[in-house]
Amino acid sequence: MKYALVTGGSRGIGKAIAMKLAADLEYHILLNYHSNTEAAEETAKLIEDLGVNCELLKFDVANPEATKKAIENWQISNPDAVVEVLVNNAGITKDGLFMWMGEEDWSSVINTSLNGFYNVTQQFVKGMLQKRYGRIINIVSLSGVKGNPGQVNYSAAKGAVISATKALAQEIGKRKVTVNAVAPGFITSDMTADFDEKTLKKMIPMQRFGDAEEVADLVSFLASKKASYITGEVININGGLYS
Ligand code: NDP
Repeated sequence: MKYALVTGGSRGIGKAIAMKLAADLEYHILLNYHSNTEAAEETAKLIEDLGVNCELLKFDVANPEATKKAIENWQISNPDAVVEVLVNNAGITKDGLFMWMGEEDWSSVINTSLNGFYNVTQQFVKGMLQKRYGRIINIVSLSGVKGNPGQVNYSAAKGAVISATKALAQEIGKRKVTVNAVAPGFITSDMTADFDEKTLKKMIPMQRFGDAEEVADLVSFLASKKASYITGEVININGGLYS
């Protein structure tokens, strides 16, 4: 049984990615989320309506022990399951000027995006290397590419995941496991719900926020066999805001 795992798959971009992978590729979906069980169950139902098996896996990607335990227990109950596609999507923001940024706002953002990448990817990379096949896709951000004032914590976390993507791609490319990053600009989701879209969209050459589905289309391509010679890349998807 082949699976695609999407972290933070209950809402927003992760939800769109999980649905797209279910629709486009022949994978069962393993849907991780943190706390919003109602949203996760709704998403799982939408995926099952597509005729694809979807299993929920609740854990905090920032917590190494909880992540390891949840994945190990799932693997014990599903001994024949192989995770071929891993999308590290879970992420949070705690914005504010650096001079006022408390330790918790710094470390929670780093722990979720950067340590989350480590905690989850560690659980699957050996299996992918043994099978000599795998797709690891990290959802980063324009903030991690260019740095964004008011988001020093988030820019640092996403920038570090970009570097990790490039380094890991070089380590494991010979075993046919690809590692890529997708860097969205402004995308409509709960994360950007409070943003002043009317003002911000004037800065974007395409004059609009992107949709989660547009990010999902790119991820689906990178997760497919068609993307077999793309690795170590950071692909921007931002309506021309920065490239
Ligand atoms: P949302 O806030 O809409 O959704 C976040 C998702 O991540 C939810 O499913 C949430 O689960 C999950 N999550 C949060 N923390 C954890 C955790 N510790 N462990 C497991 N799951 C967690 O965010 P978006 O969909 O907008 O963002 C998705 C990714 O895209 C993030 O990495 C974000 O940084 C990145 N991104 C977003 C952009 C945007 O404009 N929206 C732009 C650039 C990058 P639950 O429902 O349980 O809370």
